[in-house]
Amino acid sequence: MTNPRVRTALSGIPAYVPGKASPGLVKLSSNENPFPPLPGVLARATAAVESLHRYPDLAATELTSELARHLGVDPGRIAVGTGSVALLHQLVQAVAQAGDEVVYGWRSFEAYPISVQVTGATRVEVPLGEGARLDLAAMAAAVTERTRLILVCSPNNPTGPAVRRDEFEAFLDAVPRDVLVVLDEAYAEFVRDERAADGLTFADRENLCVLRTFSKAYGLAGLRVGYAVASPQVAAAIRKCAVPFGVSTMAQLAAIESLRCQEEMRSRVAAVVVERRRVREALRDQGWSVPETEANFVWLPTGERTAEFGEFCRRAGLLVRPFPGDGCRVTIGTPEENDLFLTAAADWPDPA
Ligand code: PMP
Repeated sequence: MTNPRVRTALSGIPAYVPGKASPGLVKLSSNENPFPPLPGVLARATAAVESLHRYPDLAATELTSELARHLGVDPGRIAVGTGSVALLHQLVQAVAQAGDEVVYGWRSFEAYPISVQVTGATRVEVPLGEGARLDLAAMAAAVTERTRLILVCSPNNPTGPAVRRDEFEAFLDAVPRDVLVVLDEAYAEFVRDERAADGLTFADRENLCVLRTFSKAYGLAGLRVGYAVASPQVAAAIRKCAVPFGVSTMAQLAAIESLRCQEEMRSRVAAVVVERRRVREALRDQGWSVPETEANFVWLPTGERTAEFGEFCRRAGLLVRPFPGDGCRVTIGTPEENDLFLTAAADWPDPA
């Protein structure tokens, strides 16, 4: 039997591995928010069931203008998408094709190599530097005439550190203006280091696109809504590459309502940050070398024993996220969930 032909570029692409929920296991594998949606969000979102027979607003007009007001940017610079991962796919499609190069640090967000390979572009993976940090100087040095895009993840998933303002500024100065830089700030709200770069303060850079999401700090991972802030030209190109009507009415309404709960969102994020510090310190006291983290997770460099450590956690009732051969990422959960994890980690004979 002859099968329909699929592009050969797809053959080497790994599947995205979701941290699947499993009955009876505490899920610390997907960097989700341990809190339920913010006050008023469920009521506003469920009102959308009245209009399930209608298509959503393709342009997400109200959400875009609320975001514009909240962020202090022109609405023409915002593109709303089906989670920031969809915006990432759209961006890669908008700027890269076979023969082009896309530079990113590695290890970083696992969607990067997938997005790049789907377009047929070439991956250029730059090893992380000291402290599991992105090495921005090496990333700038990896740019060639064929580079179209650089992906900078800050804080870096899965290792945790954020890029610093001064190093990011020097990096932007070093990168040619016709190369798009994406600053993926999915965990922006969790950042506490005052030296960290805030993408929105670099608004004058035409070749910078900032990605943010409602999935993490706002706790809407299940509704799929994120946004990009870029130049009007780049925002328009991102919109062109969207699957139409991807952001449901429910997602749009929930995001609008969530934006109105800034104070509560900040206090929940603050609680996660307190737990993050507690977990990291406790792990270090146990002998683990956990890198700095500005996000809602910690990274354990378990190396060759990573898969084994993942299994060990599973037997202790915890679902974590192993990256075999490298390390294990553990999301900050509720204090009780974190205690369970710390108890398990203390029993591991070989803290890395
Ligand atoms: N960027 C980074 C760095 C992430 O870790 C994630 C989620 N794991 C995303 C983007 C995508 O988030 P979402 O599509 O839910 O907005």
